[in-house]
Amino acid sequence: MKYHSTNGIVGNINLDEAVIKGLAADKGLFMPENIKQLPDEFFERIDKMSLDEVAYRVADALFGEDITASDLKKIVSETLSFNIPLVCVKENIFALELFHGPTLAFKDVGARFMARMLRHFIKGRGSRVNVLVATSGDTGSAVANGFLNVEGVHVYILYPKGKVSDIQEKQFTTLGHNITALEIDGCFDDCQALVKSAFMDEELTSKMFLTSANSINLARLLPQSFYYFWAYAQLKSMGLERELVVSVPCGNFGNLTAALFAKRMGLPIKRFIAANNSNDVVYNYLQTGKYNPRPSVATIANAMDVGSPSNFARIMTLYNADHASVCADITGAAYNDNQIAEAIEKAYKETGYLLDPHGACAYLATNEGLGEGETGVFLETAHPAKFKETIESILQQEIQIPDALQKFISGNKQTVELSGSFKEFKEYLLKEVLHEGSEIYY
Ligand SMILES: *Cc1c(COP(=O)(O)O)cnc(C)c1O
Repeated sequence: MKYHSTNGIVGNINLDEAVIKGLAADKGLFMPENIKQLPDEFFERIDKMSLDEVAYRVADALFGEDITASDLKKIVSETLSFNIPLVCVKENIFALELFHGPTLAFKDVGARFMARMLRHFIKGRGSRVNVLVATSGDTGSAVANGFLNVEGVHVYILYPKGKVSDIQEKQFTTLGHNITALEIDGCFDDCQALVKSAFMDEELTSKMFLTSANSINLARLLPQSFYYFWAYAQLKSMGLERELVVSVPCGNFGNLTAALFAKRMGLPIKRFIAANNSNDVVYNYLQTGKYNPRPSVATIANAMDVGSPSNFARIMTLYNADHASVCADITGAAYNDNQIAEAIEKAYKETGYLLDPHGACAYLATNEGLGEGETGVFLETAHPAKFKETIESILQQEIQIPDALQKFISGNKQTVELSGSFKEFKEYLLKEVLHEGSEIYY
């Protein structure tokens, strides 16, 4: 398969280059030249298949031209070592729980898949790949855990000292092995600036192989389409797969873009709801046809606090920027913090189901937006315990921390403290090159 950029200048790129580079040279995002349909036979049998089998068939349609069946099967099964249950919340509304991975958030699947695909593509290159990631919290933990112990790759997580929650910090500072946490004396933007400067520094890039692992990378984005096929498979086994509406809590719109790919591959989903918090630029686009990105505002669903969603360009490419066609597949919804808090409280009282603030936006949208005879699935993207203080203040009661989170909390924090000056960061990285030899090479 060949890939081209959403900016239309760069084209004819192979999958390995698209994954290793992440971003096209014209600063656009990579898109595959075509999207393969899955055959009827697959959809007829999907309810009899395991998660691994479903995901492999989808991965094969996406990546099968460029990776052998046995390698791709291994990448898929190593990625999906946990469950993705579909839970009935009430009547015709189901939660697809995407938070049973190592960091209890849905980014685990994309991060784990990307780590393994990168490992596959760098085999034989003879040098270590160094992944630099700046994080304000959740991305760092998913990437660190996704890349943990992946041979040939070392991850440096840059985070602002004192500005991430204790649980988040523990999730990427206690791992050791090939994960190094750099505690930067500065804010998130300072961390991001250091990463950008490193990529542009000729001496560094000539001496060490650097790449990023942010959500614009196709290898992180596309595996998220597994979720939608899996939701459909589970509903089909209950005879409820017709008139299916799927509601997605959106930030950078990667998850929804993967959903749109699933539909193009033939998955019979009637429509999608893009659920936003107060950062509602795409909601406004759906209502008016006008797209006006603006700075983000802070909300209690903070992983969705994005004012200029990076994957919007991919959605425009998929629909040739035609507003009417976009609206035929996607409707929008947006909720402020009060509405989110009220939904968490009400759902818990009425159904016993504990929503997290992100899933709550998607739940509200299905609750309000379903028509006669439709079945709604909303994505629960994080475990509520990751937002313990917020949830406890809404419900006025204590909530349980699952063992998987507890395990991180009791780990030992190990970081390298840096000042935020690029000179110091560069010297640190250059010293790291000298130690590369003691780690595993391909
Ligand atoms: C990242 C994230 C989102 C938003 O996903 P996008 O793919 O960026 O739209 C929603 N919920 C949680 C918990 C997240 O971490």
